[in-house]
Amino acid sequence: MIYLDNNATTRLDSKIIEEAPDFLKDFWGNPSSSYKFGSRLRNVIDEAREFLSEVIKAPFESFIFTSGASESISTAISTACLLNAKKRHIVTSNVEHSAVLNTFKALDKHGQGYEFSYINVDSDGRINIEEIIKSIRNDTCLVSFMSANNETGVLFPCHEISKVCKQKNVFFLCDTTQSMMKEDLNIADLGCDFAVFSAHKTGGPKGVGGLYVKKGIPLRPLIYGGHQENSRRGGTENVFGIWAWATAIKSIIQGVHKRRESVKKLRDRFENRVLEAYKGAEVNGTRENRLCNTTNIYFPGIENSAFLILLDQNGVLASSGSACLADSSEPSHVINAMRGSIIANQSVRFSLSLSTTEDEILSAAEIVLRVARELNF
Ligand code: PLP
Repeated sequence: MIYLDNNATTRLDSKIIEEAPDFLKDFWGNPSSSYKFGSRLRNVIDEAREFLSEVIKAPFESFIFTSGASESISTAISTACLLNAKKRHIVTSNVEHSAVLNTFKALDKHGQGYEFSYINVDSDGRINIEEIIKSIRNDTCLVSFMSANNETGVLFPCHEISKVCKQKNVFFLCDTTQSMMKEDLNIADLGCDFAVFSAHKTGGPKGVGGLYVKKGIPLRPLIYGGHQENSRRGGTENVFGIWAWATAIKSIIQGVHKRRESVKKLRDRFENRVLEAYKGAEVNGTRENRLCNTTNIYFPGIENSAFLILLDQNGVLASSGSACLADSSEPSHVINAMRGSIIANQSVRFSLSLSTTEDEILSAAEIVLRVARELNF
């Protein structure tokens, strides 16, 4: 199997698999207990927090563990809305992840009188900062943009967006889910108010993630309960998940810059081979400013649903968009917004991991080309 769907999820880091049995045997107490058997789990959590907050260059107290990016996004959105109860306007893009778009839809559905400005991307998936500036109003309570698109890898100018939000005194939520480890994330420098993370995108397990909230913002919990996470996220912590996430990042971070360079070269080789050998194939999204591991390719004449089934049967795993929407028959909303539904229905995303090998990528390119020619004889 050649797994090229790493923006959906990643293989569990081997260090976790190696060390998990011992960890689970010994560390099963409750971190809130007063006796040492439990309270030493608090140290596990705090050590992980210290390490992970240092990785993203955020203060220790600003990093909260959650169940993943979706929960972090909902918490950030509800905090921004509750702290600005009189302001009812939100600015975002039409290519955000469903974790963002559907949270906004839910606000809309509950009849709370919110108005939304959905900024369109151009045919290369880029956003125009001037349009964002123009759309911010006196009653805007939140601006929400992703740092990197999960389907195309295209990067948004989040430093500029952040500056504008600061000038206009509006909260900025940056969906950084796809950027961790694939880019040098520096939250202090980015200056956003909220940022979100998901462990399973970076070699960790599913069901654990993080929320960065800027110092001074009184977070409104989505989950009430005990005093966990400084009363900002109730519920007994997922200690194993937190430990495993930190373990994965410790192992990935070694030589990460070199690994990014090499994955970028492999991605480009794959892309160039497909483009030169399949007539009319095109990359969706700018090739200039995007994540090192992602390519989204339009194969004219091939419906992606049949293509993905045949690729799977031939041992290559890819996708037509976000895994969260994989059971929907709708074309990708991202490619649709960029280039329309015909191209969206004939496009496939390939996303490499930092460990994808040259052998894998060269074989994958040939399998993709063979299957594509079979379908488009
Ligand atoms: N935001 C982006 C950009 C994503 O790619 C994802 C997952 O694919 C999420 C949010 C949601 O992450 P999770 O499902 O882990 O909560």
